Amino acid sequence: MTLIASRPLAAARSAGAALLDLLLPRACVACDRLVESGNRGVVCGRCWARLHELPHPRCERCGHPMRRERCAWCDLLPPFVRAARSVCWIPGRTGGAIVHALKYGGWRAAAEGMADRMARLAWPRDVIEERAALVPVPLAPVRERERGYNQSALLAHALGARWHLPVWPRCLERTRATVSQTRLTPDQRRHNVSGAFRAAPGTAPRLRGAHIVLVDDVITTGATLVACATTLFDAGARIISIVTFGRAPAVGDRT
Ligand SMILES: [Zn+2]
Ligand SMILES: [Zn+2]
Repeated sequence: MTLIASRPLAAARSAGAALLDLLLPRACVACDRLVESGNRGVVCGRCWARLHELPHPRCERCGHPMRRERCAWCDLLPPFVRAARSVCWIPGRTGGAIVHALKYGGWRAAAEGMADRMARLAWPRDVIEERAALVPVPLAPVRERERGYNQSALLAHALGARWHLPVWPRCLERTRATVSQTRLTPDQRRHNVSGAFRAAPGTAPRLRGAHIVLVDDVITTGATLVACATTLFDAGARIISIVTFGRAPAVGDRT
């Protein structure tokens, strides 16, 4: 009885909250300017418009902007990685601020607008036809407890809803904590993450023969995503593709 009686109350409360949301101006999590009325997201239209998207032409496989006939960025990816795609350069003021708000500012809702843009990326036809599930890059448990969520899992769920694909959020596990990669060289990064992941017990039957799409917020040298892709491949996945919101430029890229 109490439960039934409290339902209209809860509904009234959430309707009230939604109304307040519409009436009270909100600041953009990336630039602090007011978000336009009618924009239900946490990032303003101006910031989305200023996003520094990866320029064309892009490599058909790795999605990296190409300057020569042969793509050098593809060399970062092992042969079982079919394709990789990213929306924008990071750091780049706007993209970096949005990722920062999602990761460190507690702005979970930023994942929705990011996933909107990730969902619109163009893929080779075979990837669209074959992709079976989305797997987020796991955080170290201690970091996930501190943050309260894994930003890559939020992106994977938002993207899964748009692509109508299942998300396997606990498919990969960290076997150990790794140090922050920001100050490491590419070689140190590879060493830092080597053997840091495993497929969760019991996931091998689902993975067998599957084309999996790995999801992360940003790809820098690819060390973390390649370590995750290798773990999935070793556990039986046949092909892995990669999608991220941001991508760090490599040496020689014009940003
Ligand atoms: Zn803004
Ligand atoms: Zn390439």
